[in-house]
Order: sequence, then structure tokens, then C-alpha cells
Amino acid sequence: METPVRSRALATEAVHAGRDDLAGLGLHAPPIDLSTTYPSYDSRAEAARIDAFAETGADPDGPPVYGRLGNPTVARFETALARLEGTESAVAFASGMAALSAVLLVRASMGLRHVVAVRPLYGCSDHLLTAGLLGSEVTWTDPAGLADALRPDTGLVMVESPANPTLAEVDLRAVAHACGSVPLLADNTFATPVLQRPAEQGARLVLHSATKYLGGHGDVMAGVVACDEELAGRLRQIRFATGGVLHPLAGYLLLRGLSTLPVRVRAASATAAELAHRLAADPRVTRVHYPGIGGAMVAFEVAGDPHEVIAAVRLITPAVSLGSVDTLIQHPASISHRIVNADDRRDAGVSDRLLRMSVGLEDVEDLWADLDSALGGNPGRGAGLPRSAAPPRGATGHNEPAVAGRH
Ligand SMILES: *Cc1c(COP(=O)(O)O)cnc(C)c1O
Repeated sequence: METPVRSRALATEAVHAGRDDLAGLGLHAPPIDLSTTYPSYDSRAEAARIDAFAETGADPDGPPVYGRLGNPTVARFETALARLEGTESAVAFASGMAALSAVLLVRASMGLRHVVAVRPLYGCSDHLLTAGLLGSEVTWTDPAGLADALRPDTGLVMVESPANPTLAEVDLRAVAHACGSVPLLADNTFATPVLQRPAEQGARLVLHSATKYLGGHGDVMAGVVACDEELAGRLRQIRFATGGVLHPLAGYLLLRGLSTLPVRVRAASATAAELAHRLAADPRVTRVHYPGIGGAMVAFEVAGDPHEVIAAVRLITPAVSLGSVDTLIQHPASISHRIVNADDRRDAGVSDRLLRMSVGLEDVEDLWADLDSALGGNPGRGAGLPRSAAPPRGATGHNEPAVAGRH
């Protein structure tokens, strides 16, 4: 007897979505299908399936045809991500940038080359739009000016919230309303569906650099767009024609990553909130950016030289990217947003003193000890600080004396 269909909670979907058929196959772990091609003795049927794909972009019924049209292991990840984001479909790509490129190409192929976007965006997304590398033309605006920036040939509105790297938030519901009939793309890389589901707020396209939290272990490069099936079909057709496919092994790792996503995001967010709190009370830090919706990213501006902090971390890894189990820190003006023109970068609120930290799953006191030491600007001074010297968890206001001297 079938149990009545009821929507499952996010934590349940995270470990079961995309795997519903496994027990019937006599399997527990999902299989990895590395085939690039699939045998078929019925070429009339193949012709019909290829015609159907050319028409709608729907995943072909029956056995797969060719790796660039779709892959069963990748499809499991797509199914799972669509469930987590609450969309009909999802289409996976070789990277976040390949995913964004496909969205721009879908709209451009319909004659809608104009994009309205809100800064800041991830540095390379900004660059792709500003340089018009795919033939698009961008108008930058703030959310309040969005409706006025729309033109008859506007094919897309793009926002990030919380944005990379300042963690600025936009009101997705208000922005979606201002878009009218123009599709809103929300880059949900930082929040993940654990903290925010933009489709429920009116975004028609939800983009992820799956390289970050969805994979979660710093060993997969991938992108994905969650959307309705109509747009998904067009995205698959673009993916087929331009080739930015995800490797099946990456699809497998992403599906595995999703199963721990809610646990990872909640644990890292709790640590990040505590570190944001301590940084805000620290005189060596002039400003802390931490989103109202929470999350595992913290950005902060230092009174001293940010390059010295990067050079002084020991437990925390000084590296670009984010969303891994370990904590990473980087200087956006030098790395993630280097490709953005310096004036545009500063106008978008990306100060030269800003550091962006992706908080992992380490113990909060160990992380604080490393930050405290690195902020000292004098590697000799704080490096050997015993753990007990760090303030207790939940302390209101950090009462370590400011480290005098070199900043
Ligand atoms: C990293 C990132 C991207 C680009 O993704 P890749 O997987 O590196 O191509 C896009 N948006 C945001 C917010 C990112 O952090």
C-alpha cells in the first residue's frame, strides 16, 4: 500500500532525494555511470528521442543516448537539488560560471541580450557581464532602481543574496516583484537551500556554484541552475550544444555532499555567528559583515594591513573559494574580486581592507585563537596563545586588549 504523498522536510530530502529508486535496484549507494555512449539497436526510436530533445530539451525517456545529453548519476544530483530548492527541475554544469553562461545564452538566443544586475556579485560573474563576453549588455542598478532599468530586450535580472563578498542582502521578494515578467536569477551559493529558498520568493532561476557548499569538501567543481521545466529544457539544449557538462563522478560527490548539507551549514553557521560576534567587539576590526539570515560566511574590515592577516593564519587556510569543511580566508580586492575594476569594486562596498572568511567545522575556540593571533599582526605574539586565553563561548563583547603596535 502506498503511503500518502506528503512533503518531506529538508533534512529528509537531503539524504533521500535522488535515491528513491535505489532499494528497488537492490542498491544502497548510488551507482556511478561513466558511460559516454549507450547502445541502441533501434535507430528509428533514437531519432524520435533526439527530435523530442531538440523540441523541448526534456530528458530523453528510456535509456540515455550520449553523455552530453544527460547522465543518470548527474540526474540524481539534479533531482535532489531541485527538491531542496523547491523547483520542478535542475540542470547541472561543469562549474558555476558554466551554469551562468548557459543562462545568458538561453536568454540571448531568444533575442533578450540585456541584463539588469545588482552589485556586488561574485567577481567573475561581474566580469562576465561587464565585459559582455557572451554578447550581453549589462545595466548595474541598486534594488530600488531595478524597475526603471528594465527594457523591452531585458532577458534577465541577476542578484546575489547574501552577496559575495560583502554579504549584502537583497529583499528577494521585492526584487522579484519589481522584475515583472522578466526572470529573476538569484545566486544562492552563500545561503544554500538550508537558509533560503529563492524560488519560494519569486526567483525563476536559482544558481549555485556547487563547488562551494553543495559539494562541501573542496574537491568538486560544479554549477547548477534550479528552475521550472520550461527553462530547464532550454538550459539542457544549451548544455548539449556548448558542452559544459558535469562529470558523473562529480555528480556522485555532489549527491553525497547534499546528504550532509543541512548539518554542515547549521554547524558552521553557529560557529560563524560566534566569530562575527567576537570580531565585532574587537578593536582591531573596524567593521563586521554578517547576514541577517545567518550563514557560514563572515566578512570583516581590519584596522591594520589585511595582507598581514592572510600571511599570519595557521589553522585557517588562506585560499579563495568557500563552503568547505575547513575554514578559508581570502582578500577579495586581491583575489576573488581582482578582476572587477577597482572603482566599481569600491562602489560595490568591497573595501581594500575587507577579508572574507568561510567558516568550516573546526572548533570555535581553535578558530578564534588563530584569528586572534593573526589579527595581532605580530606572528610571534599571539601564536602560542593557550586555548584558555580565548574568551568563553557566548561572551558578550570580546575583552582581550587590542594589540598595540604594528597593524
Ligand atoms: C564561486 C562562485 C561562483 C562561480 O562558481 P565556479 O564554480 O567557481 O565557476 C558564482 N557565484 C558565487 C556566489 C560564487 O561564490
